[in-house]
Amino acid sequence: MRPDKNAIAMSDLNATKEEMCEIGRRMYARQFVAANEGNISVRVDDDAVLCTPTFFCKGTMTPDDICTVNMRGEQLDGKRKRTSEVLLHLEIMKERPEIRGVVHGHPPHATAFAVAREPIPVGVHPEADVFLGEVPIADYATPGDDRLAETILPFVHKCNTIVLANHGTVSFDVSLEQAYWWTEILDSYCRMLILAKQIGRVQQLTDADCRGLIELKKRFGLTDPRMGDDFADADLTTNPLFRDTWAQAGAAARAFSQADIEDQLVDKIARRVAELIKQ
Ligand SMILES: [Zn+2]
Repeated sequence: MRPDKNAIAMSDLNATKEEMCEIGRRMYARQFVAANEGNISVRVDDDAVLCTPTFFCKGTMTPDDICTVNMRGEQLDGKRKRTSEVLLHLEIMKERPEIRGVVHGHPPHATAFAVAREPIPVGVHPEADVFLGEVPIADYATPGDDRLAETILPFVHKCNTIVLANHGTVSFDVSLEQAYWWTEILDSYCRMLILAKQIGRVQQLTDADCRGLIELKKRFGLTDPRMGDDFADADLTTNPLFRDTWAQAGAAARAFSQADIEDQLVDKIARRVAELIKQ
């Protein structure tokens, strides 16, 4: 008996909805979203995207709660109203047709950087450098507003993870699972940075170390704009890919800049010398 084509498509769709619920549970369990926050989407056809409903906890969704929209954001199916932030997801999918999964949340450690408008430093932890690369910070826009989607346009072709100023994060890739991983790696990395800062200081790797990680990335078959000739002479520890865009988002390296760390050291030495002179 020949399988019914529509039935197969339907079972694929159901499996994708199940996967979205599973990712929602993981996001809620890891506290990347609170209450009804965050949203997830998967492109299932040229003009069809599954997305999560608005005003609904991502930790308790069932496949029945998932909505379907077209690429203009008009709702095609689903008993619940689609998230207003799906426009951000659609913009990413329009710009990058290979993208299938998009994850948006407010993971607290990464969002702490978004709120502090502190750029995420590179060259500190191999996992973050290899899988995320430089993570840009996009300017603030009201959630659900058309302008939110526009804020990510300068970055969407150069990375798969973006921090949204005073809001949260968005990550995307060819599968939903990977899109989710990048959020998890980012938040875990930001947690390490915050903890290390509490211990005292963060030791950055050298430019040569960073280039070693880019080579590793090549071996994994991953791409990165910093592999290009434009960055042959750049110091990779200084976020050369997105540094010029920080001011646009009102961001500046205050807590994690090397100069800042050196200044603190000079201050400490000066204080110690002053104490010794007093004695
Ligand atoms: Zn949000």
